[in-house]
Formats: sequence, structure tokens, C-alpha cells
Amino acid sequence: MYSVKKDVGDVELFILKDGETEFGKETFIVNDSNEIQRLLKLNDRQAIETNFNAFLVRTGERNILIDAGAGNLFGPAAGNLKFALKEVGVKNDEITDIIATHLHPDHIGGLLSENGNPVFENAGLILTQKEHEFWTNFENFKNNLEDQKLPLQVLSKYTDKLTLISNDADIGSGLSAIDLPGHTAGHIGVLISSGNEQFAIAGDIIHAQYLQINNPDIGVVFDQDPDLAKKSRKKMLDILADEKIAFSGGHILNPAIGFIERIESGYVWVQGETN
Ligand SMILES: [Zn+2]
Repeated sequence: MYSVKKDVGDVELFILKDGETEFGKETFIVNDSNEIQRLLKLNDRQAIETNFNAFLVRTGERNILIDAGAGNLFGPAAGNLKFALKEVGVKNDEITDIIATHLHPDHIGGLLSENGNPVFENAGLILTQKEHEFWTNFENFKNNLEDQKLPLQVLSKYTDKLTLISNDADIGSGLSAIDLPGHTAGHIGVLISSGNEQFAIAGDIIHAQYLQINNPDIGVVFDQDPDLAKKSRKKMLDILADEKIAFSGGHILNPAIGFIERIESGYVWVQGETN
């Protein structure tokens, strides 16, 4: 199974598992090197597992893909989005919109085919103005031109149908952006609201849920600005805990639906759909 369905009011949400891998300890930024071992033991985990997720929101008129997985960039570890969409029964040309939470390869690799053509030929691409500004500014990539290549390629292939939004924009169909800067300059989450139900896609505030929820001070080497990313992580976890909003994220483990509860020392992940 590559897809998990969750109804949010009248909206159908599918969590699409593009892939999975394990991270090494060196991927995480932590003061005390024993902390990772402590948290793995606390959560009865042997390894730092992660998933690569994308999301499909079906509203009746729109089939909105939130992120698109890694495509063929990570070899056998990822690239299952096509199987997930097949399971749901949506064809590539039926995707109307793509929201990119940010422009890292595990979220946009799946937007281009092996020959560099758009996979979703009828879809518009939505991302924040800030994210666009960062990745198109050559000043930011003087020492690592390679990192800029894929984002520029994707932007050039979807350029006719590009929509740049503010970091807290109303995206329509009950979707709105959640401003979560730090992982990247214009990184966002997406809040889905329908009727009196809400569900949050928290983007990449968490790469290892059994480390960074219990201890949100733990950063990840992929964070462009680890301090700002930490602020955004805590802000989002506070909202999720206070408002009891079910959520998922780009790297939450399958079936990737849960809640946040607050405990004295931080937060805990509670697997499940309902509160
Ligand atoms: Zn990611």
C-alpha cells in the first residue's frame, strides 16, 4: 500500500508514500551525542527511520498534489509516487495543481521525467515568492551550483503555469499556507479546512518523528537556517498540540497520521486519526 486515505470534511486527502530510508546520527544537529540513543530507546526504535511523503487533495474540481517525491533521484529508496497515484486512481494529466512546500529534491524530483519533461503536464505549480527568490538568486549558490540545478530546471518546465504566493496565502478550496521558514527560506506547511474539520501538512519541520517531536531542539543538516527552523518547528508543534489538529508531514512514518500531545519536557507523537 502506497496510499492512506483520510477524509477532511468534504475533502479527500491521500497520504502518498514515495519511499523510505534510514538516517545516520550525523544527519542531526544535537548538543549531547547521547540524546539520540536515549530517544530511540525511549520510543523502542532501533534506527532513525524516515519516509518520503507526498499528498493528494481531491476537492471535486481540483486534484491538488502537495509535493511530488524524489522521482528517480534516490534510486530504489524512493520514486513510488506513480504507484501511489495509480492506487488512488488519478492519472498524471488529471492533476490540476502542485503545491511545493519547498524546492528540495525529495519534494520536486518527481515533477520531471527521466528526459526532463513535466510529469504533470496540465498542472500549475504553486510555491512561495520567498522560496522562488531564494532558489533563483545565483548569489546564494556561488559555492554549490549543483544544488540550484534541479529547482531551476523544474521552474523552467512549469514556468507557464507558475503561481507565487505569500507564506500565509489562501490557496483556495479550503487550503492555506502555513509560514514555516528555516528549513528553507520560503518553506511552508498546508492547512486543509473543510466544514469544521482541519488537517495540517506540516512540511519538513520534522525529519525523524521519534527524535524531533520529543526534543524539538534537535535540528537536521538539511535545515538552511537551523535556528529559524527550530522556531518554526516549535511554533507548529504548539499549534498542533493546542488546537488538537491531526497532521502529517513530508517525513512522518507510514501511515503518517497523528496528533501532538504536550508533556512536561516537550511533546509526544500520538499515532491515529481522531482525538
Ligand atoms: Zn524533505
